[in-house]
Amino acid sequence: MKLSEVDKSKLSPGMLQYVNIKENNMDVILFFRLGDFYEMFFEDAYTASRELELTLTGKNAGLEERIPMCGIPYHAVNMYLEKLIDKGYKVAICEQVEDPKSAKGVVKREVIQVVSKGTVMNSESLNEKDNNYIGRIIDLNYAYIISYADLSTGEFNSLMIDHDDRVISEVLSLELREIIVKSTFDKNVLNTLKNKYKLNTSIFDIEENTLEYEYIYKDLDERYKAGIIHLLSYLLNTQKRSLSHLQKVNIKKNNEYLKMDVHTRRNLELTESLRLKSRNYSLLWLLDKTKTAMGGRLLKNWIENPLVDKDEINKRYDIIEKLLEEFILKDELKNLLFNVYDLERLVGRISYGNTNGRDLLQLKSSLKVLPEIKEILNKIEFHETIETLDDLYNLLEKSIDEDAPITIKEGGVIKSGYNEELDSLKINRSSGKDFVINMEEEERKRTGIKNLKVGYNKVFGYYIEVSKGNIGLIKDEYNYERKQTLANCERYVTPLLKEKEALILGAEEKIITLEYNLFVEIRDIVKTYSSRIQKIAKTIAEIDVLQSLSTVAEENGYIRPNLTDERKLIIKDNRHPVVEKVLDGEFVPNDIMMDENVDILIITGPNMAGKSTYMREVVITAIMAQIGSFVPASECTIPVFDKIFTRIGASDDLVSGDSTFMVEMKEANAALTNATENSLIIFDELGRGTATYDGLSLAQSIIEYIHNNIKCKTLFSTHYHELTKLENHFKKIKNVHVSAIEENGKVTFLHKIKDGSIDKSYGIHVAKLANLPEPLINRANEILSSYENKKIEVKTQMSFEFEEKKKENEVEEEIKKINPLEMTPIEALNKLFELKKKVDK
Ligand code: ATP
Repeated sequence: MKLSEVDKSKLSPGMLQYVNIKENNMDVILFFRLGDFYEMFFEDAYTASRELELTLTGKNAGLEERIPMCGIPYHAVNMYLEKLIDKGYKVAICEQVEDPKSAKGVVKREVIQVVSKGTVMNSESLNEKDNNYIGRIIDLNYAYIISYADLSTGEFNSLMIDHDDRVISEVLSLELREIIVKSTFDKNVLNTLKNKYKLNTSIFDIEENTLEYEYIYKDLDERYKAGIIHLLSYLLNTQKRSLSHLQKVNIKKNNEYLKMDVHTRRNLELTESLRLKSRNYSLLWLLDKTKTAMGGRLLKNWIENPLVDKDEINKRYDIIEKLLEEFILKDELKNLLFNVYDLERLVGRISYGNTNGRDLLQLKSSLKVLPEIKEILNKIEFHETIETLDDLYNLLEKSIDEDAPITIKEGGVIKSGYNEELDSLKINRSSGKDFVINMEEEERKRTGIKNLKVGYNKVFGYYIEVSKGNIGLIKDEYNYERKQTLANCERYVTPLLKEKEALILGAEEKIITLEYNLFVEIRDIVKTYSSRIQKIAKTIAEIDVLQSLSTVAEENGYIRPNLTDERKLIIKDNRHPVVEKVLDGEFVPNDIMMDENVDILIITGPNMAGKSTYMREVVITAIMAQIGSFVPASECTIPVFDKIFTRIGASDDLVSGDSTFMVEMKEANAALTNATENSLIIFDELGRGTATYDGLSLAQSIIEYIHNNIKCKTLFSTHYHELTKLENHFKKIKNVHVSAIEENGKVTFLHKIKDGSIDKSYGIHVAKLANLPEPLINRANEILSSYENKKIEVKTQMSFEFEEKKKENEVEEEIKKINPLEMTPIEALNKLFELKKKVDK
């Protein structure tokens, strides 16, 4: 049965309440609290039972047919919620908002929160080293503004990008988990994000009052403000609580960071390896020796956003260098950082109101090490210092019990000595308990019943238990009153026991209420420290990343790059940092020598020689240098690049819909139209995806275009040997090759870069290594040698072109020699025939 088919007038009042609430929450699954369960009905029940493997049942609600229903126990809600969110659903949690005992009629219920991928706060669902961004895209017709926030840490950002198809690439690069747009937003872009990239998207048009949060966007340009207010509106509308931990917006300026598109980031495996689709074997994996969650997130951010300001980069190098010198301090620092918990998310949870005693203990333990961290920051002359928040530490030290439980509603959270009233209640409670323990002894003596017991259970409270055989020993004067009869014993109470019970339970209840109130009071005090803690978290994250980079540099023998304003890219003994780590054998270091006179390197070499690895290591070295990291080399002079473009490896599924070659051409176009002379371009075998002549011609014209128009540093690997002739025709092109030696039919790859070019591909050799059938390999060798023997000259487009040019030049030269005034008409006609013949040939 569908919700839309229901005749509301026939519904029971409870179900009517459900339907009314559900009608305002049609695009989400509604968890409707009924006693100890969250129930789902109608279509939600079908979906949830399928996705969560729950039994589908039915509920009588006044209609002829039973309403489809399924439910989950309230205490297991997080597990089910996480599953649904993970599968891309949004869930609205609808709670009872009045005490059922005092309710007149149906208990009042309200949606208290809508949870979705971008608004998850539950720490089990969040990866501590990843941000969880929710973004809002505004289309200004001439540009897009993307505002995005991490609700769990309070971070808020905004950036403006050009109005072209980069918006999708940018959204993917930012790894937004959820996107909010207005209903007027471009449907094509929205559908691509939703259907092709499976992003959670929501259309949302409501504008909430965000005045309380004006500090987030106060001084900004109106265009940014609109997006931020809109995103805030969505957060407030769905979270329905104070979000005071949200921080002032950081406007990301395009010219502050090295630009790379999403393909480049993915192909270079900066934060995720292509094959494993995980951190393992990515640059992030290699560089991450951070000790804190905040440091882990910041490192990822740095890798995705390398700097372009030379001074800023050098500042990072200075600290890494200092930490390398002061290695004892660095070790101390690492140990201290290890004790710092995720302050950003702690503040988030505190402001959100779902924090417990253990969170505050984590905060305390983090605060405890701040004075020592501060001292180290001073010693290494770090540009930022930190507050130590001693008063807050003292408050937490005094107030929160070391063994605080996960819940805050069952007591045990507040330390003795913090609050007098609580202490005296606890004395009452324990004196009552002592009395009960002593009572057992005394009653045994008084009655002479040796196995008499004083016990407690939740339903009957305290009781005296006497086995059936001893009941006769109970006299009237003892004032025993029968309470419960079991198979082999009777349970009694006495007025004194009742009195003590009232004292104990009364104290217990008061203790729990008082502890809860005290906890909330402390939590509210902590809340007032939010922005100060967030500031500390930022500094801690930064020093953590720098210690991580310093540790990695030390472990792997990296060196400090020398950033130059000249057009020089000179790296000696360069290695690929990740391949070097995972390779079984020795990694062969290589040099790259591109001074002012070399803009383009044409790299030839056999298959499997190491061309791609060489190009990748150069570009990764450049990115590491701009992150502020030391680099895998023995010497490195490098300019600060403004943009990096790569066309490496097979096309990935990101741009599905286009053919491999189309993708290749689109990426080439992105590079050629956006690169400046300060960019770095890496083209790996560009043009190989089409017919030889087409590919070769395109490759050559692209190289010529870069040489003559863009003039940026470019590495171009190719199997088209014809391209190596360009070195003779263009000033700033140089050939290098990766060497291999062939002995007795065996090829050894040396992986060493040398000047000049090589025209052997050893493709058949590689095919043999890949275990292709032997007869096939033999046949391939036969065909190859027949080509070589016949010396079939496979004329390339380029050699045609050179010949054409030669012919044109010859004719031109002859025309120059002619003096028409000295020729007879017949001589002129003959000459014309002769020239025409030459051109036609
Ligand atoms: P193809 O032309 O077939 O694409 P390629 O020349 O681009 O090949 P790569 O993919 O770079 O070759 O390298 C092939 C393998 O050689 C790598 O997987 C790596 O194991 C090894 N290799 C590459 N460079 C080096 C090096 N400098 N030192 C040691 N091993 C290397």
